[in-house]
Amino acid sequence: MDVTSLLDQLNEKQREAVAAPAKDMLVLAGAGSGKTRVLVHRIAWLMEVEGISPFGILAVTFTNKAAREMRGRIEKLMGTQLQGLWMGTFHGIAHQLLRRHHTDAGLPDSFQILDSDDQYRLIRRVLKALNLDEKHWAPKHVQWYINSNKDEGLRPQHIDTHGDYQQGKMRDIYQAYQQTCDRSGLVDFAELLLRAYELWANNPHILQHYQQRFRAVLVDEFQDTNNIQYAWLRLLSHPKNNMMIVGDDDQSIYGWRGANVENIQHFLRDYQGATTIRLEQNYRSTSTILKAANCVIENNQGRLGKELWTEGSEGEPISLYAGFNELDEARFIVAQIKQWNDTGGALSDCAILYRNNAQSRVLEEAMLHQGMAYRIYGGTRFFERQEVKDAMGYLRMISQPLDDAAFERVVNTPARGIGEKTLLGLREQARNSEQTLWQTTNRLLQNKQLTGRAATTLTSFVELIQSLQQATEEMTLEQQADYVIKASGIRAMYQAEKGEKAQNRLDNLDQLITACEQFEMPDEAENMTLLAAFLAHASLEAGENQAESHQDAVQMMTIHTAKGLEFPQVFLAGVEEGMFPSQMTNEEPGRMEEERRLCYVGMTRAMQKLTITYAESRRLYGQDKYHTPSRFVREIPSECVEEVRLRTTVSRPVQNRFSPATSHSAFESTGFQLGQAVLHPKFGEGTVLSYEGNGDHARVQVNFSDAGTKWLVVAYARLTPL
Ligand code: ATP
Ligand code: MG
Repeated sequence: MDVTSLLDQLNEKQREAVAAPAKDMLVLAGAGSGKTRVLVHRIAWLMEVEGISPFGILAVTFTNKAAREMRGRIEKLMGTQLQGLWMGTFHGIAHQLLRRHHTDAGLPDSFQILDSDDQYRLIRRVLKALNLDEKHWAPKHVQWYINSNKDEGLRPQHIDTHGDYQQGKMRDIYQAYQQTCDRSGLVDFAELLLRAYELWANNPHILQHYQQRFRAVLVDEFQDTNNIQYAWLRLLSHPKNNMMIVGDDDQSIYGWRGANVENIQHFLRDYQGATTIRLEQNYRSTSTILKAANCVIENNQGRLGKELWTEGSEGEPISLYAGFNELDEARFIVAQIKQWNDTGGALSDCAILYRNNAQSRVLEEAMLHQGMAYRIYGGTRFFERQEVKDAMGYLRMISQPLDDAAFERVVNTPARGIGEKTLLGLREQARNSEQTLWQTTNRLLQNKQLTGRAATTLTSFVELIQSLQQATEEMTLEQQADYVIKASGIRAMYQAEKGEKAQNRLDNLDQLITACEQFEMPDEAENMTLLAAFLAHASLEAGENQAESHQDAVQMMTIHTAKGLEFPQVFLAGVEEGMFPSQMTNEEPGRMEEERRLCYVGMTRAMQKLTITYAESRRLYGQDKYHTPSRFVREIPSECVEEVRLRTTVSRPVQNRFSPATSHSAFESTGFQLGQAVLHPKFGEGTVLSYEGNGDHARVQVNFSDAGTKWLVVAYARLTPL
């Protein structure tokens, strides 16, 4: 290829970074200034000009989605496929290392990844086994304790409890939990990193191999590395290789999860000869969006400080919409997207970003209502849905029956009459003999130590797993999934449930089979069965790659997940005090600044148009909460913003149908307020969405949490306000 074309599409500063001779470099720059582009071009440059083979390059990205995109961009630049290049997240790369060197890492070859939900369940079981009350030892807190110690590289024996009882107990829980994981060949996310670190720290010959192999190490989104990740990178450093790290301190948003923005300073301290390159031109957003984002982030103290300017046009003002509740807010967003789509814009150009995953449900419903395709990245993702996890549990059991988490998941799903008492006994026996649940069950059955119902039900469970193993041995992956879903009884179980929810679950099971069908063996998955590779993929990616990926769809995700991405149209939803910044923010020092950085990240995802919305009232945990717009909205200069005044579909169209556009309020006409929570004797709890008519004709549209949206005649409906 023509080398100059690698530099053509870059500004001078970017060129300097891409074409630099071998050395350590820090690229520190604001959002949209081309940091990731520099990284991509640098990789191509190293191969093309410096003659480094793809095997000699390690590139770390923050999400799997980013890794895929980056690989695609480099392949396009170079016009060839990249074989042997290691590119992925810290977790993905650690996983790959552990698979290759599992013996040295002290893991069975079929070890499984424990996602955070599984980890939580396992912790609860450990607490129970230790006879500790969850009220005093909150499983979430224990989970945080274990993970944050691992993130600091600390095993139980490294923790000094200063003789404190409470601390000592926490350490014991950590230890008991770890023993259970080790016995079952389970590796949680934090463990992936810690093990990979220990693998190198304890095996100099392996470390040396990688130090010599990777001549160039490149890390994107460096501001969000944690201590164990940085320590791991430090181990890899060698006089013969170089690091290029790129980042933006203003986009550090994982402090709550142990990320340490000071790693940027540590890098400058530890790599004395490193050059710092600053990029100042933003290529992503209109000048309006950029100005607004800059004004918001300026309210933070102690920034490394960066200038960011653009040659881009002023573009449209930022739209600000106040929904009277979250349903109205969602409807507004969907209407805006529909308008964009009707005038030829792609749905996938639109992203809806929110602070918390739970906010997605109302937005999803609004889109379903419109028949608008959407895709959720991260969060309550496909692979985390109950029915999918049930099916995956069986797949995990046939791949690796020592997996305690999977055993627990499926032993009595569908219900086969195995009592809680039997399970308690089983767990205790397993603990005493330091064996897994599967081993214990088999032992007890063989020694005839189980009787009656426990013996029959557990025998049938063991036989089921064995028969699934045998029957699926020669099958393709999708046949395995299909077979397991049927033969385990999961499909029948959900078929027996009625209603939309159950249908959704069945659809999800079908989607799982499709996902299996579309799954391709990744390059790096040597020595693994396709099933094992798929299970690892599911745990690591959890829904980043949903089945219907070819379809044009609105993209929905948390702001955290959106890091590094860009979209022509961005909707930031739920931007109100108490949601964003979140309620917890005031309780922890430093959190407000992190929330503000998160807002900066969200705003700077937008290329052409940014729309910010909030709900004046929002139903949270069964109560209506009233909120004011977020302080971050008030930090945006008023000349950048245009308030949208219309109240959309909720109250209007209905008035046009029956009543002349009179001044009757919803309350006068129906006795109910829009957005009000109501109870129906049959349909349960719901929220009033809209109304029409008066007197005997008055009808209300109610969105019931379980029964969906219905029109009801007020005079007959026996609705009571909640
Ligand atoms: P973030 O901080 O959000 O991760 P970033 O600094 O990594 O942003 P990129 O995603 O690399 O920024 O670039 C932002 C946008 O600007 C991309 O669409 C990219 O293609 C474009 N871009 C970057 N540099 C140039 C350039 N020199 N000329 C034209 N477009 C550019
Ligand atoms: Mg980037």
